[in-house]
Amino acid sequence: MLIIWGSRSMDKTLGETQRSYQCQHCNNVNRYRVFRRRNWFTLFWIPIFPFSSKYYITCPICNFGSKLKKQDALDQLQVATEMQQQIQTEAAEAQQAATPEIQQSETDAQ
Ligand SMILES: [Zn+2]
Repeated sequence: MLIIWGSRSMDKTLGETQRSYQCQHCNNVNRYRVFRRRNWFTLFWIPIFPFSSKYYITCPICNFGSKLKKQDALDQLQVATEMQQQIQTEAAEAQQAATPEIQQSETDAQ
């Protein structure tokens, strides 16, 4: 019986960095993309299990970038997630603060 096995790499975008970097390749200033590249063991072209993971940070425009340690990659994302939550909280608070004013003016109109 013929068994076909091999490996295949798959990328998963994890997010973008909080701070912007100037790309050394294209000179654009942008938030970098953080992604994980996993190599999968495949059996009949079907991925069965991953056997290695590497983390990268790349320019979203030209894809120039470098490899990161896992912890460094997660740190870059962690800051972004915290900032995003803070922005969402502030937006929700601003919305709540604005709502009574609208109701107030409707009441005045009647
Ligand atoms: Zn670039």
